[in-house]
Amino acid sequence: MTDEHAMRRALELALRGTGRVSPNPRVGCVIVKEGRIVAEGWHAAYGAPHAEIMALEQAGQEARGATLVVTLEPCVHEGKTPPCVPRILASGVARVVIGMLDPNPLVAGKGVEQLRQAGVEVRIGVLERECWWLNRYFAKHIVSGMPYVVGKVAQSLDGCIALPNGESRWITGEESRRRVHALRTELDAVLVGKNTVFRDNPHLTVRAVPGRQPWRVVLDTQLQLPMMSFVFADEYRERTILCTSPAALQTRKAETLRHSGVQLLEVPIDEEGHLHLPTVFRRLSEQFQIASVLVEGGAAVLSSCLRHRLLDELHVFIAPLVIGRGRHPFEGWAVESLEQAWRFSVQAVLHSGDDIHVILLREQPVFAERERGNGGTGDA
Ligand SMILES: [Zn+2]
Repeated sequence: MTDEHAMRRALELALRGTGRVSPNPRVGCVIVKEGRIVAEGWHAAYGAPHAEIMALEQAGQEARGATLVVTLEPCVHEGKTPPCVPRILASGVARVVIGMLDPNPLVAGKGVEQLRQAGVEVRIGVLERECWWLNRYFAKHIVSGMPYVVGKVAQSLDGCIALPNGESRWITGEESRRRVHALRTELDAVLVGKNTVFRDNPHLTVRAVPGRQPWRVVLDTQLQLPMMSFVFADEYRERTILCTSPAALQTRKAETLRHSGVQLLEVPIDEEGHLHLPTVFRRLSEQFQIASVLVEGGAAVLSSCLRHRLLDELHVFIAPLVIGRGRHPFEGWAVESLEQAWRFSVQAVLHSGDDIHVILLREQPVFAERERGNGGTGDA
């Protein structure tokens, strides 16, 4: 069994923490002895043991002289649970293979250093790109204090998200809707503007796939939305965060909503009279430990995300339909010249039923250097 094979299995195990461990990272771990996996672990829930500890406990005496393969650098700091590196050293593991270093610059490399000082052989950067992809939300959040922001657009072939009259339902197909629900359960929160709730009265819940419900974040500067909107009145209303202006928070309507269980978040107004979007995201992170947000629209909110340089990733679902005159996903964004146009890099182009699913990233992370230095089983 190669390190890469073992790491693939560790990545699979890490996925079991989806929707349960945030704001912690998803981590998987396997212990390999004499060419076969003798124990497996993953971080299963926030506050639960780390993947390495779960695997070491399962391995018991088998860990002695074995190789521990883990997607993320083992921790040295006391968090919700004791640090993992001392436990790894005590277990007698001879070699540790790590997918990616801890993205937190304050602790990156410290786990590796302690392991090497104790005489354990360490290899870094195995399937690093895949490991980063798994924990891109965590990495952004821990480094910047801001959530990782993913935009979602469902559009026709000619770039329309709705007819001129606002009709937008069912442009894209069943499989694309299922994928949007999968994103909702993977990310911590779903965010929409007031107009989307007015027009569509969406539930913003997860129904088409199994998984936990995300926070639902609604922007409504003047508190104009009807109280009976599903996001305020359905059984998940305690998972709704209504962002509104300081003035609107003083109203009876705000008081009634708070009483019914809706969370209210005060956000200052910008020069144009809208809620200041960077502050929305920062407060979601600080007050609700939200590490990732799916922005589902509408056009005003998506455009504002571009203006404030907040979009890290964009998922575009394209139906093979031509609508002609219609509404545009980034209507509020305009440039004077092509050099100013917002450019993404294409991460993947997938089939989604009869639709096309394009995943775009704001920028490509750089992995080349470590990958070059990592030929065989030796250290980088
Ligand atoms: Zn740990």
